[in-house]
Amino acid sequence: MPKTVAILGGGPAGSHTAERLARAGVRTILLDEKLAWEKPCGGGLTYKAYEKYPYIVNNHTPKREIHDAYLSAPRAGRVALSMPRPMMIYARTDLNQLLLDRAEAAGVSIEQTRVLGAERTSSGWRIRTAKGHLEADYCVLATGARNPLRHLGTEYVAADTMYALGYFVPGNRDAVDIQFLEGLEGYIWVFPRCGHLSVGICGKGEPASALRVRLESYMREHGLMQEGAKFYGHMLPALESAGWRKNRVAGEGWLAVGDAGGLVDPITGEGLYYALRSSDLASQTILAAAPESRASHYRQALSADFMDDLAFGASLARRVFLRRFPVVGGAPDAMVRLIRRSQKFQHLMQDLFAGTQPYLDLKKRLTRNLSGGLQEVLLNLFLNRMMPETE
Ligand SMILES: Cc1cc2nc3c(=O)[nH]c(=O)nc-3n(C[C@H](O)[C@H](O)[C@H](O)COP(=O)(O)OP(=O)(O)OC[C@H]3O[C@@H](n4cnc5c(N)ncnc54)[C@H](O)[C@@H]3O)c2cc1C
Repeated sequence: MPKTVAILGGGPAGSHTAERLARAGVRTILLDEKLAWEKPCGGGLTYKAYEKYPYIVNNHTPKREIHDAYLSAPRAGRVALSMPRPMMIYARTDLNQLLLDRAEAAGVSIEQTRVLGAERTSSGWRIRTAKGHLEADYCVLATGARNPLRHLGTEYVAADTMYALGYFVPGNRDAVDIQFLEGLEGYIWVFPRCGHLSVGICGKGEPASALRVRLESYMREHGLMQEGAKFYGHMLPALESAGWRKNRVAGEGWLAVGDAGGLVDPITGEGLYYALRSSDLASQTILAAAPESRASHYRQALSADFMDDLAFGASLARRVFLRRFPVVGGAPDAMVRLIRRSQKFQHLMQDLFAGTQPYLDLKKRLTRNLSGGLQEVLLNLFLNRMMPETE
């Protein structure tokens, strides 16, 4: 295993990788220009995340535990959905600090500085920072979706990204709200946090200004446009099928974790779980694989664990948000109607919200749900037909 690993970026992916490596005895240096900060984000963590990483729940850091959601679609209206496996919602400053503290306790050297460049040397890397430079044997790229080091990590084209923007609004609520919109490959969310709400919109193929207009109109309608609301915006990786196929997650002497590797659910925008999970797979690879096979080992580990499922999700995203059928409307309308009618479908949606229902298995599950009254069967059949075949 390498003697010294430089981790570029100290968000969830960087700090979690650093912690894992330091615990295994590797000299680990983490560099971040901001350290704990309010990165634009909903801050929502699914059951899948805290089941695997119980420390997300078992700590004294402020967070909300949300048991209820409302889903709204343009034609079908609003429906309640309970979440027996609740969602944990953090302010990102708090979540980042929790993860950085764990890394520091594990022995990671943490330095607040901007990384300016990373060049290969005969024995490893020379990392240039705003404060000087350092040498490392191996390099982990964790600089997020706006990775400034173009020769490392995912090479984004516009189609592989979406905008996500919103407001932190003073207020309190006990349920998550998800609003699907006509003609948008994306959605609006309202996530309750401690002392405020994260209200945002993500969408593909529309400029940020148009998304902002949609969001502000929703906020005005729902009494959320308030004095003191703070605007935020950021890029969200949303790889197309082709983007997944050529995704550059590792190369000689480096690998990318979290958003820097494009590892975000292209339908829901969930990235926190994948930041943590890719960090586990990255650290296992660095510790166990021979130097010359690290890149292929990591790629295979990602594919087997979640990347193939997310790549299949990419082939589904546009159908879910945009395909329209006479009478039924779109898939979100069918979903809302089915939640009202079918307990089996409610369970399916609860599993999707918990993060335990893989996309690759969705068609099979919908087929098993083909029962009940005529309308229920027809709606299920519509969703089932919409699904692409798995290879
Ligand atoms: C608006 C929005 C809402 C979202 N909501 C959710 C949600 O509710 N749930 C969910 O699971 N996911 C959500 N996501 C996705 C989630 O925010 C990301 O997937 C997650 O932050 C990825 O973690 P990361 O560590 O890879 O990257 P980041 O959290 O972006 O961390 C990257 C770090 O690198 C540092 N950095 C970058 N460049 C440099 C440099 N040159 N030098 C030094 N440091 C540098 C930054 O300061 C930053 O701390 C959302 C994303 C957006 C944009």
